[in-house]
Amino acid sequence: MPNLKEDPDHRSAAPVTAATRAALLGHRGAIVWLTGLSASGKSTLAAGLEQNLARARVLSVVLDGDVLRTGLGRDLGFSDADRKENIRRAAEAALLLAETGAVVVTALISPFREDRRQIADRCKARGVAFAEVFINAPIAECERRDPKHLYQRARAGKIPSFTGIDSPYEAPLSPALELHTDRESVGQSLEKLTALALSLARPPEPTAGARGADI
Ligand code: ADP
Repeated sequence: MPNLKEDPDHRSAAPVTAATRAALLGHRGAIVWLTGLSASGKSTLAAGLEQNLARARVLSVVLDGDVLRTGLGRDLGFSDADRKENIRRAAEAALLLAETGAVVVTALISPFREDRRQIADRCKARGVAFAEVFINAPIAECERRDPKHLYQRARAGKIPSFTGIDSPYEAPLSPALELHTDRESVGQSLEKLTALALSLARPPEPTAGARGADI
């Protein structure tokens, strides 16, 4: 076995930096965190955003709450503690993926403000761009849509602790973007969401004047 330490041809394995990954991909990683009631439009918009980003040659991946619960969180239920742990795992997975350079789009109800604040803090500490997006449709509209008949089942007492019915949803106080999906088309919401995601992935270069001001 050759001793790598003593091998003069062996170069030390310096870690690949975020800047190297960004140069490789042509954009940086980020997390676009969609939050809102069930049926507000998170999955629809996440899927559309993923497509738009692919067209713009930006690598992205969707972490959908329903899908995560079949794998990474399959041991978890819907108590406050389990929801918190579900969100924590989703956030850690999102961070790892964003650090590879992908734009991660999460679609989870994520009802608690404190959980979302902790995710923003984790991203800040790790230097990962983060944006909270409030997918806002009134509960009456979500209940009218009810694509998965979840509201119907919750009203019938078949789903305990359903967000918006017998479990709270804490709306974001200062989201990076708020989309009123009851008043705008999927296309209109997507246009704004895509613009936000692209600005995170490819932040505008500072102007010469702004650079000068920094020195
Ligand atoms: P969630 O992932 O939040 O549970 P879904 O995306 O599964 O919600 O369902 C939202 C439903 O609302 C879809 O049937 C979608 O077509 C409809 N919808 C209407 N307008 C919008 C909009 N502007 N944005 C997103 N969804 C919309």
